[in-house]
Amino acid sequence: RVRTRFAPSPTGFIHLGNIRSALYPWAFARATGGDFILRIEDTDLERSTQAAVDVILEGMSWLGLDPDEGPYYQMQRMDRYREVIAQMQAKGLVYPCYMSVAELDALRERQMANKEKPRYDGTWRPEAGKTLPPVPEGVQPVWRFRNPQGGVVAWDDKVKGRIEISNDELDDLVIARPDGTPTYNFCVVVDDIDMKITHVIRGDDHVNNTPRQINIFRALGQEPPVYAHLPTVLNEQGEKMSKRNGAKPVTQYREEGFLADGVVNYLARLGWSHGDDEIFSREQFISWFDLDHLGRSAAQFDEAKLRWVNAQHIRMTADDQLAVLVAQQLKKRGVESIFEDHVARICAVFKDRCDTTVALADWAEKFYRPVQPAVEEVGKHVTEQVRPAIGMLAKMLETCPWNRQAIGEAIKEVLRATGLKMPQLAMPVRVLVMGTPQTPSVDAVLELCGRDAVLRRLQAA
Ligand code: GLU
Repeated sequence: RVRTRFAPSPTGFIHLGNIRSALYPWAFARATGGDFILRIEDTDLERSTQAAVDVILEGMSWLGLDPDEGPYYQMQRMDRYREVIAQMQAKGLVYPCYMSVAELDALRERQMANKEKPRYDGTWRPEAGKTLPPVPEGVQPVWRFRNPQGGVVAWDDKVKGRIEISNDELDDLVIARPDGTPTYNFCVVVDDIDMKITHVIRGDDHVNNTPRQINIFRALGQEPPVYAHLPTVLNEQGEKMSKRNGAKPVTQYREEGFLADGVVNYLARLGWSHGDDEIFSREQFISWFDLDHLGRSAAQFDEAKLRWVNAQHIRMTADDQLAVLVAQQLKKRGVESIFEDHVARICAVFKDRCDTTVALADWAEKFYRPVQPAVEEVGKHVTEQVRPAIGMLAKMLETCPWNRQAIGEAIKEVLRATGLKMPQLAMPVRVLVMGTPQTPSVDAVLELCGRDAVLRRLQAA
């Protein structure tokens, strides 16, 4: 059974680049009938915050990336890590190292001066026939992992292909600090073992950790999982996407009126492909997703493209579903007495011209609050020549049946009686009723606006 995980560190608000590392393991679990596990890697106490955890949980739930298990929190698993450290101590898989920080610094400087890669030199690694330095008094050691010597660590990465690292390039990793707390790479391996992870799909900033993690897996008598290291997501300036250079928290896209399905679709394509398919549903994505079509080169985030994809999903979404979201946006703006079925009809008329539910709410608001047409628009369209025609139309609209067809007939009758052309009447009516001449067909807009509001707005002229 496939088991995947998303293992974010709550050290900042996760952005769309991060959430892509949740989307693929989620999709792979769904595509294979497996399990998707959420693990919060919160051991960096200085930088981890509850607010960041909240954005992870809210963002994933908004996007429908629901875990089958978790969230697990590493800070709640400390006893387990200590237990495994004790087992490794008992088996001689780790050894105590008493090298002080000053000694380590000196070692590094010497290596740098010789143009060598800085690495721990194994001073405290016990070997047959080797005498270790005398143990200094009153010093708590770190515990280092006995990395295998000689040979290579290799794996077939699902994205990067075969990777081989010579063991001689890996020094003996510290897995427990002097106070007994475990270190990052070690916790990841214990978790991936305990959580029975079969496929690790994560950002390629972890590729250097993988050979070390594989060696720890093997030392613990386990076969490592399959790895797929995803290429970086770059921002629009071509830098690695990060909160430090302005990437927005994932939840902000919900506030800005993006649809979960639109964001999922956009992120799915940002590093994975299914032929030329650009627009697809969540169900299609799940049924198509595989690890063989993950992209090999860095992907660049493009907000204009995201908007375009979202616009396609706005068109694909049922009016009553859109209405729920648009009504939420209107409530946030303090609009009262919203009728969802009315909002759904507004969505039907306006959704072709909107790329977010915020844009839809901007239109819907015009039906619920007085509009203030710009003075220039009024001056340009509501001329002395058309005023009498507007008055005539208002008179007819007082009594005509209130539906699109009857409203259309009334407009045509005014055109016949006055000899005006359609735009000469329709433009000023749009400006007065909607505040702008750029609206969908005028009879549809008037019908949605309702008789009382239309008469009030026309009479304002
Ligand atoms: N916690 C790591 C991060 O946020 C991910 C670790 C992993 O996926 O193995 O980058």
